[in-house]
Amino acid sequence: MEATNGSPQSKAGDWRNYERVLLPPVRDLHKLEVYKNEGGYDRLRKVLEEKAIEPGDVTNAVKESGLRGRGGAGFSTGMKWSFMPEPDDRPRYLACNADESEPGTFKDRQLMEYNPHLMFEGILIAGYAMSIDACYVYVRGEYADWIQHMEKELEKLYDQNLVGDNIMGTDFSMDIVIHKGAGAYICGEETSLLNSLEGKRGYPRYKPPFPAQVGAWSKPTTINNVETLACVPLIIEKGADWFANTGAEKHPGPVLYGISGHVNRPGVYEYPTGMLISDLIDEVCGGMRNGKKFKALVPGGSSTPPLRADQCDGVTMDAESLREAGSMMGTAGMLVLDEDTDMVSYLRRVTHFYSHESCGQCTPCREGTGWLENIVTRIDEGEGQMRDLDLLLDLCGQMEGRTICAFADAAAWPVQYTLKRFREEFEAKCKASVHPVSADVSSGTE
Ligand code: NAD
Repeated sequence: MEATNGSPQSKAGDWRNYERVLLPPVRDLHKLEVYKNEGGYDRLRKVLEEKAIEPGDVTNAVKESGLRGRGGAGFSTGMKWSFMPEPDDRPRYLACNADESEPGTFKDRQLMEYNPHLMFEGILIAGYAMSIDACYVYVRGEYADWIQHMEKELEKLYDQNLVGDNIMGTDFSMDIVIHKGAGAYICGEETSLLNSLEGKRGYPRYKPPFPAQVGAWSKPTTINNVETLACVPLIIEKGADWFANTGAEKHPGPVLYGISGHVNRPGVYEYPTGMLISDLIDEVCGGMRNGKKFKALVPGGSSTPPLRADQCDGVTMDAESLREAGSMMGTAGMLVLDEDTDMVSYLRRVTHFYSHESCGQCTPCREGTGWLENIVTRIDEGEGQMRDLDLLLDLCGQMEGRTICAFADAAAWPVQYTLKRFREEFEAKCKASVHPVSADVSSGTE
């Protein structure tokens, strides 16, 4: 990839010498004994036993660090914590969102497999900061092996008084419960997750009220992603400044890039935010597979708009740069596509996913996702007409912003942007269609 707008600037500093902190290269780190030998739970000790940091100061440190949620939306974590009301006689909950299901996203799995105690320690420090009574780790049921393993490790934490009553002999008590999801993508949406936890159907709730006001069992609740919580002990240990000065200024910190698709070495890679897309593809992942040309990138999970290769020139992986380029950071689950990729077929798979996973609560989403899939499928099968392209865009407009949760938006964006940015491929299939081609079709590419 060559930059067209001057020399590309990475915001990730000396990333080639970066030392991993979320997934450090330590054998058997998933075991409590090993984690403790590496200094694990010392950060919790620092805030609890030495009383070095008051609960409000932990929240302030997280705010100052600039940590933004790693589940996809990128909301300020410290700000979210500060939405929790002052403690009263009601129980207060934390939900660790481990229901990772966004296509192209598989980084929380790595954390739960290789460094689950960093997540548990983050949960406990967050719990201390927000006076939480219990945390529910809502984990994707398909991650069966890691669930079993985490349950074993959690037992050890209870045995060693690191979870439960009077943790480390202090007056801070908190429980952690691992709750298995049952395979519904929508239950990763925070309010569906709460309904599902309560034993109800996993339908999203209206926001506001936000969960900090009316959460699990109507009590104050905060929902954070696994990787977000795993960053918290690092902020306590290394300082908010260290975090704020790692990676991109407005979206700082270490981040797990889950890179899949047509590269030589797909995988989960930890680096600072603000890595150049070209460095990640060409250097970290060893370039494109079979020497093919890079065609497109879906930067942060299936709901983020795909970028053409030329739109990625000089772009870095952080919210600001990706927004300017015309997409979003999402989960940093990067799907790299080569020149042989048929973008109509790509979109067909994506629309099938959303149509299958729509919970059906809102009509525009329930009906719209099915129509998107039907139309893209008929185009892909050579039965589309040119007017279908405008029909698709019209449908997206009828879905976006008209439903209770962001699912319909997430289903509409890939359609709108794949069509806008790769329109010629859709037109070619329609023109070759067995059906007569309709005239007078606007042709708008970016
Ligand atoms: P959102 O922007 O509505 O909310 C983000 C967070 O900020 C939520 O916790 C919300 O409660 C809080 N928030 C936002 N505005 C607030 C306010 N005014 N007051 C109080 N709290 C406020 O986004 P969302 O629907 O939670 O998440 C959408 C994202 O999820 C998408 O961008 C997508 O990338 C991602 N996603 C991830 C996965 C995955 O597997 N990790 C799966 C599906 C979707």
